[in-house]
Amino acid sequence: MNYFFKKKIKNLPAFFLFLFFLVFVFLYFLFLESEKLTNEVNQIFSSQISGSYFSKEKANQIVLFFVGDIMLDRGVEYMIEKYGESDYKFPFLKIADYLKKADVLFGNLEGPISDKGAKVGSIYSFRHQIKAIEGLVFAGFDILSVANNHVFDYGREAMEDNFLRLRGAGIDYLGGGFNKNQAHSAVIKNIKGIKIAYLGYNNLGSPFWSAAENKSGIAWLEKEQLKEDIAKAKAEADLVIISFHFGQEYQTFPSAEQKFFAQLAIDYGADLVVGHHPHVVQPIEKYQSGYIAYSLGNFIFDQGFSKETMRGIILKVIIKGKEIKEVIPVDFEMNQYFQPEKISRTFDKFFNL
Ligand SMILES: [Zn+2]
Repeated sequence: MNYFFKKKIKNLPAFFLFLFFLVFVFLYFLFLESEKLTNEVNQIFSSQISGSYFSKEKANQIVLFFVGDIMLDRGVEYMIEKYGESDYKFPFLKIADYLKKADVLFGNLEGPISDKGAKVGSIYSFRHQIKAIEGLVFAGFDILSVANNHVFDYGREAMEDNFLRLRGAGIDYLGGGFNKNQAHSAVIKNIKGIKIAYLGYNNLGSPFWSAAENKSGIAWLEKEQLKEDIAKAKAEADLVIISFHFGQEYQTFPSAEQKFFAQLAIDYGADLVVGHHPHVVQPIEKYQSGYIAYSLGNFIFDQGFSKETMRGIILKVIIKGKEIKEVIPVDFEMNQYFQPEKISRTFDKFFNL
């Protein structure tokens, strides 16, 4: 008893010193995080606060934005007609200002924009009205992936019409084309002298949708072809970004297959992998010298049945020199009209898988 009492007294100052140290460390990190948050929120709302911010910083950095699944048919179309005066700018009204901060804006277009073709898919077949393209142009999309399981919902005719309409509107389409060479060629954006290559793939639905030498279609995800495409893109560009339409719907963690292909793409030399299709957000991983965002979740989709399908992330990627300096998941939620809004910043999405 005596011994314990003495030991307690003896260690008391050291104990308090240690406690003080812990509190100091905790407060210090709390301060750092709040600084980061303030900076980010300032950037997000900078246009409302002041016209010029970090102007020097901005001059030598490139900002890339990535969003997930965009579907403007069915319930989204209903909202546009009922509440948006049939104007396809409607779904983007609350977020367009923010999206314009990107040097390159990428998304996955889940279904063709066309008035051609006949429904060949299931009851979950999508086709967008011709004027849907006006909304995508208004939002500032530079690249849209067509490599997904809905591109063939209205057959080859609608798919090819979609390619032509996107090109006509000045939007590059990714992971598809009138032949294999087109489908597997990177879209290369030259921004401030830095060449950034984008490649897109899908492995859901039917491999018969693959583009062949003289046949239109999409880029099917396959190991050897991926290796070849990345090597070619790397020879032509400073950074290589891969888009994958893969994984399982409504799963909040990546499958073994997603991990395999995403990590393989980095091993083959890609700098960033972005995924979509699960309709919910999945983790972001730093892997080797690259980054993987396994699923960006929905961007615009009429899946009002759960909170998780009514939100997503805008992946904000900051490039300085020829390197990715920061990967920031910017949270948003869709409102009842399927308009993405309520941007915020969270810190809990990085994992080591
Ligand atoms: Zn999909």
